[in-house]
Amino acid sequence: MIFSMTTVAHLECSVTGERYEAGKVQNLSKTGMPLLVRYDLKTARDNWNREWLANGPRSMWRYAPVMPVAKPTSIVSLGEGWTPLMKLKRYGAELGCSNVWLKDEGLNPTGSFKARGLSCAVSMCVELGITKVAIPSAGNAASAMAAYAAAAGIEAHIFMPKDVPQSNYIECKAFGARVTLIDGLISDCAKIVGDRKEAEGWFDVSTLKEPYRIEGKKTMGYELAEQMMWKLPDAIFYPTGGGVGIIGMWKAFDEMEQLGWIGPERPRMIAVQVEGCQPVVRAYNEGAERSQFFENAATVAAGLRVPKPLGDFLILQAVRQSGGTAIAVSDDDMMRAGVRLATEEGMFIAPEGAACMAALEKLVGSGFLKANERIVIYNTGSGLKYLEAYSALFPR
Ligand SMILES: *Cc1c(COP(=O)(O)O)cnc(C)c1O
Repeated sequence: MIFSMTTVAHLECSVTGERYEAGKVQNLSKTGMPLLVRYDLKTARDNWNREWLANGPRSMWRYAPVMPVAKPTSIVSLGEGWTPLMKLKRYGAELGCSNVWLKDEGLNPTGSFKARGLSCAVSMCVELGITKVAIPSAGNAASAMAAYAAAAGIEAHIFMPKDVPQSNYIECKAFGARVTLIDGLISDCAKIVGDRKEAEGWFDVSTLKEPYRIEGKKTMGYELAEQMMWKLPDAIFYPTGGGVGIIGMWKAFDEMEQLGWIGPERPRMIAVQVEGCQPVVRAYNEGAERSQFFENAATVAAGLRVPKPLGDFLILQAVRQSGGTAIAVSDDDMMRAGVRLATEEGMFIAPEGAACMAALEKLVGSGFLKANERIVIYNTGSGLKYLEAYSALFPR
């Protein structure tokens, strides 16, 4: 038996709780804050059972009742999600840790977990009749959007910093998107999209400026619980740029508790950033509820180069409520940890994922984490998308 109907109820302002109608085109709330999708979880609980998941699709769409898409024919899927959770035997043993796993999101379509968010957002565009989308991106979100827009036959307009990894530029061009390279950061790209979208008739798919990318990314939380037999780990390391994944997983844990699938225990959420762009770490250390714009942001981990995340307050809430922490590592330590993981485990991960490996080494060293704790690292992309960054270590 498969129950596959959405139980979407309404949208809600993440700050005021004010309700907005589902099934209509929506970006931010009236106060300029992200909107979250809410479901009728009682109906879902009465009609859906976690044991049935085994018969569902081997993609993130196995969780369709808690996804926003109403018509199955709207779904634009390239096989995103249901990625492997791999135990790090040799790397873990060297650190003295016996229970470290890596969730390998690099195996998603377009080589990053951005596929989850954009599959969901583009599916909703199809459902709502949107035909032109625009996105400012540090790289991987653009690749994913270009791919799903191509699959849906939707026009994609992409604005990226001009030093974006070559893989992202080439993918977007190959997928037939309209690409503009900007001499600036993702925040400058976002401004251009904001200024032009009305005149051009673009739907703005910027991080957290529409409600559905979170819904795709939250499936990482559902999957983790399912793959760990419904017992969440003690700690989760997450490379935090815009923070969509952390916010999404935190939401998923809440939903699963309401579904009766997990208890009230939560993993410690560890937000990992890099020294060259660490607005969330600074805010965390200062006890602030919001971050401040991080000037002169610089790192080869393109996905972490977000100087002022719109959802900073939601990231900080999850980190604090979970008893986690926020930590920054240097680009050097990050790249070294990435190569070490490749050498010891045969997995070639993105610098963003490698930042989590470096952070793990630090927090085990400091005693924040104990050797026998169950730890999950999110590798958010494939190392193959970052050949320029790795070339610096292996010149020919
Ligand atoms: C976008 C991106 C991140 C940051 O993701 P958020 O959920 O927005 O914090 C991390 N790693 C990679 C590879 C990315 O593409």
